[in-house]
Amino acid sequence: MTGSKIAVITGSSKGIGRAIAITFAKSDEYSSLVINSRKIEEAEAVVEEIKTSTNCDAVAILGDVSKEEDCIRLIKETVNKFGRIDVLVNNAGIQKDIPLTETTLQDWYNIISVDLTGPFICSREAVKQMQIQDPKGGCIINISSVHQIIPKPHYVPYATSKGGIDMMTKTMALELAADNIRVNIVAPGAIDTDMNLSLRTDEWEREKTIKKIPMGRIGKDVEVANVVDFLASAKASYITGSTFVVDGGMTLYPSFGLDNDHGSKHVFPQDSN
Ligand code: NAP
Repeated sequence: MTGSKIAVITGSSKGIGRAIAITFAKSDEYSSLVINSRKIEEAEAVVEEIKTSTNCDAVAILGDVSKEEDCIRLIKETVNKFGRIDVLVNNAGIQKDIPLTETTLQDWYNIISVDLTGPFICSREAVKQMQIQDPKGGCIINISSVHQIIPKPHYVPYATSKGGIDMMTKTMALELAADNIRVNIVAPGAIDTDMNLSLRTDEWEREKTIKKIPMGRIGKDVEVANVVDFLASAKASYITGSTFVVDGGMTLYPSFGLDNDHGSKHVFPQDSN
């Protein structure tokens, strides 16, 4: 049986956003999903995939979340089409590897406007609807990063955005709790997506990254999506203002692990198979 919930997932034409959309569609909790990105072909491909392989409906609404008018239109078109919005996932994100001294004001604005301002505007517009619909309420999930916690040299605007998402989420969660609107964060570690192409193509880069992950492997997009699916569900009905880190232990200070401090070699789970 198909559920009745409506969800908007920004940046859902590929990577983690696509995995969230497919996971939602398979959960049978949703009647329709809004797939968003700036390019039509990839967004339409995800719509087709959902329609042909699940009982859920889906539509593509193009839009650049760095633009206020696009965010407003994304939410407005969703409400016009489906009458309500139950779940907003602020997932669209970009990053750039650049030293601080070479970071232009335009670089700063480009990244902050997609990664921090976009979630602010989309949330503001979605909340206006969530506060007046019947039944009242909804759920917002912001896709942040371990770099909400761990500083990342050469990524000052990105890490600043993700740090900002932390306080934005907590503040919204407190302000909106009485409206039955939950606001939470999922913070991924290193996940195999196009954003991390070098992890596929550059073995040295991949090994360097894996050394920082106690579980000894790069994560899969669906492993992030499963946590988003849980947070968006009634199973998480008492959770708001929280961050769920999905990082194979990256935020546990791996350099303090057994093979460094105590001389005993840490055996990764896959090595013992
Ligand atoms: P990805 O594979 O590069 O996908 C990004 C998605 O966002 C695409 O659908 C892209 O489509 C869309 N997008 C980019 N800019 C947009 C804009 N201005 N407006 C609307 N859509 C936009 O990235 P990902 O790895 O899945 O990352 C998703 C989220 O997870 C991001 O917030 C990222 O910071 C976070 N994250 C990822 C990792 C990781 O290891 N992959 C780790 C930590 C956090 P178009 O380009 O066609 O618009």
